[in-house]
Amino acid sequence: MPSSVLALVFAVVPDAVSAPELMLPASVDEAIVRCETLEYSQPDQALMLAAHGLTLEPRSPSQHGQLLGCKAWSQMMLGQMDEARALTLVIDQLIGEVEQPGERVELLLRLAQLHYRGGDQISALEVMDTALDLAERQALDRQLPNVLGNFAIYLTEAGQFDPAIEHFERLFALIERGSESSQQVPPIPVRYNLARAQVMAGYPEQALSHLEWLVPAMMQAPGMEPRVATALAMKGDAWRQLGDFDRAAELFDQAERMHQQFDNPGELSVLRREQSILAMERGDLAAAEDYGRQALSLSRQIEYEPAILNALKHLVDVLARRGSHAEALDLHREYAERDRSFLERAQRSRLDTLETQLGVQRQARELDELRQEAEIQQLKLSEETFRRRVAWAILFAVLALAAGLALWQRANQQRLLKASRTDILTGLPNRRYLTLQIQQRLESSAGGVLVLLDLDHFKQINDQYGHDMGDRALLAVSRVIEQAAAAHGALCGRWGGEEFALFLPEATAESASKLSGQLLEQIAGVEFFDDQGERIPVTASLGFAPIHALARDSGQEAWEPALKAADLLLYRAKHAGRNRGFGAWPAEAAEPINPLALEDAVSSGRFQLMRVPDASI
Ligand code: GH3
Ligand code: MG
Ligand code: MG
Repeated sequence: MPSSVLALVFAVVPDAVSAPELMLPASVDEAIVRCETLEYSQPDQALMLAAHGLTLEPRSPSQHGQLLGCKAWSQMMLGQMDEARALTLVIDQLIGEVEQPGERVELLLRLAQLHYRGGDQISALEVMDTALDLAERQALDRQLPNVLGNFAIYLTEAGQFDPAIEHFERLFALIERGSESSQQVPPIPVRYNLARAQVMAGYPEQALSHLEWLVPAMMQAPGMEPRVATALAMKGDAWRQLGDFDRAAELFDQAERMHQQFDNPGELSVLRREQSILAMERGDLAAAEDYGRQALSLSRQIEYEPAILNALKHLVDVLARRGSHAEALDLHREYAERDRSFLERAQRSRLDTLETQLGVQRQARELDELRQEAEIQQLKLSEETFRRRVAWAILFAVLALAAGLALWQRANQQRLLKASRTDILTGLPNRRYLTLQIQQRLESSAGGVLVLLDLDHFKQINDQYGHDMGDRALLAVSRVIEQAAAAHGALCGRWGGEEFALFLPEATAESASKLSGQLLEQIAGVEFFDDQGERIPVTASLGFAPIHALARDSGQEAWEPALKAADLLLYRAKHAGRNRGFGAWPAEAAEPINPLALEDAVSSGRFQLMRVPDASI
């Protein structure tokens, strides 16, 4: 069946618009309406309108699709099939963006039409299936009749008569019910196509029930003559199927008479083929061949491949029956070749559609994968950043803590060290630290004098004025000792209790004696008062001895014998009445002596006894 029938049946075929000049549309909507009005009659102008509409803004996806649809259809009308097929695939992708269901169905209808015309029946049927599903689910009453009608026509063309008839009948029921939405669908084309499907499917009685009504109805509608002729031919075919060949022949004759009034090779080709079939069934093979040849040449005129294939196939049968095997074989070869390439084209179109859909799907999937990957990367990155920040924070915290700890430890160590070296009451070096310092000094020089100093009757101060007062006295004395030591480059410390020691490096008998005298004088001069304001007298006694003049026992430190000697001399001072001091100094060339032998050495004159403050030697 020529495709123009489809167009005639369901598209609004306008009167040709014979505008001398093409006025450009002002809006997208205007471009769509005008393009769709002209797409059958003046496809070249429709094409320009669509192209112009595509330059106008703003355009919704639906409007975009409609313009592309009209453009593609116009291209098909002009034979630009490749461009049109490419555009069809673009529309296929665009549909996804159309959200409004009614608009989406309209565009699906256009897409199916383009697929069908482009030779991809399978895609057309798939698209219609989608459209029908959507129209039913969304109860799109306005679109449903069109969807049912077009779907049924495509199914008929695809030879799927039963579902086609079912859809036609549903549509017919809608019209019978007079539903509002079906008013736009004229009943004649529906019945016409339904009857056609029924005849082709081999249900002649059912077809006739429609055709009886249809033929007179069509007679009254203007401009329907070619269709009336075909309706008559269909009726004849139905009667032929029922075995009433005479009635069939009569109807074919009527149809033929009508055909003489107009020139429609496509429709006439169908009639000739039916006439040929009838002649064959009647056994008139010569007439069958004649009609068959006419059917073929007419179908070749319209270049409609399915029609050519049908005509060829039939003529091959007739020729074979007539014994014209050589020609039958030739025609069969042509049939086979055409069928193959027709199928190939259909497959190719289908393949193109599938490939594009796959491409779109793959692109979408790849995009999705890329997006997911990017998200994962982002997540990983922020996790990594977070982890790194935490790590840095921990590291800094640990470092700060460690640094703090180290500082604290060092300060603490310093404090501890200082505490371990300092006498807590007076702040002077304690005995341990003083001896350590002395030892260090003695490593670089062997000389030096040790002074041991003890406060006089200190017990009495404690007893008389209290322990606190005793402490204050110790403090005052220690300041005097400290200043004197500093003034002479001497070391000093608290030896214990109310005893103090000094180390005078490189001191001579004179300098040691002199410093001792000053010390005693200064201590005795300390202005120290009780709570009543009465002066408390504080004095001290001391002894001193040079380190180099005293011999040490094994295991003794170098300073120890001198300290022992100083202690003995201090005892002598106490004994002699306190507030004084004694020192011992060897005569020239005297050997070092044991401190316990000091008395003897003094007696023998090997050592000189020195009095402080009476510094006479
Ligand atoms: P002498 O003249 O013979 O040295 O008589 P003294 O009383 O000073 O000697 P003694 O050894 O009998 O007494 C020493 C006293 O020093 C006994 C002790 O209570 C007192 N003393 C020792 N250390 C401290 C101290 O840190 N603070 C106070 N307030 N008294 C102390
Ligand atoms: Mg003492
Ligand atoms: Mg004392």
